[in-house]
Amino acid sequence: MELSDRQETIIEIVKENGPITGENISNQLNLSRATIRPDLAILTMAGFLDARPRVGYFYTGKTGSELLTEKVKKFKVKDFQSVPVVVKEGASVYDAISTMFLGDVGTLFVVDDQSILTGVLSRKDLLRASLGNQDLNTVPVHIIMTRMPNITVCEPNELLIESAKKLIDKQIDGLPVVKKSKKGMQVIGRITKTTITQAFVELILDK
Ligand code: ADP
Repeated sequence: MELSDRQETIIEIVKENGPITGENISNQLNLSRATIRPDLAILTMAGFLDARPRVGYFYTGKTGSELLTEKVKKFKVKDFQSVPVVVKEGASVYDAISTMFLGDVGTLFVVDDQSILTGVLSRKDLLRASLGNQDLNTVPVHIIMTRMPNITVCEPNELLIESAKKLIDKQIDGLPVVKKSKKGMQVIGRITKTTITQAFVELILDK
């Protein structure tokens, strides 16, 4: 976050004089207590300052990047995941392409009759299958999909940054968010490069 000149000055005052009351900070700035109240609220919320009742404000000593890291570590998969778009194993490549367009996604998850994850289909998987001379209506997706157990997944309580790392390490565009059970993995969400971009924008614009 971008701090105003006045907020920077307040940090300096607290750094040198803390613990210091709001009253004393405002006196040093020749401003009213009411004028600096929003600044103190912002600096406290952002973690630069801490306030103790009857003691005053003190400097936490945390750098901007430490505070950013703390914030990122609060981002969980479950808070950012979007709705998964799935097809059945027996669906044709033609159906999968239609579903990809209708669902406006770049990755489809393939499930069996019990809604358990069995595979993944990317845009290029479907393009590759379309290059041959086969009738796309007769080729089932389970022939061309990347299949279990080679699927990289994530879980709702995982940190979003861990999922982002998986996307980079495996060079893939999306991960299914799964709930593990005895039967297998049930697909309950989707994390994609777009999700990570959204989180990045949210972090910086501080929404
Ligand atoms: P594209 O192939 O359109 O560039 P990806 O980079 O996501 O999209 O996919 C590359 C390959 O990795 C594809 O063959 C796809 O089936 C596979 N893939 C995609 N997502 C996963 C995943 N979560 N786990 C394992 N393999 C995946």
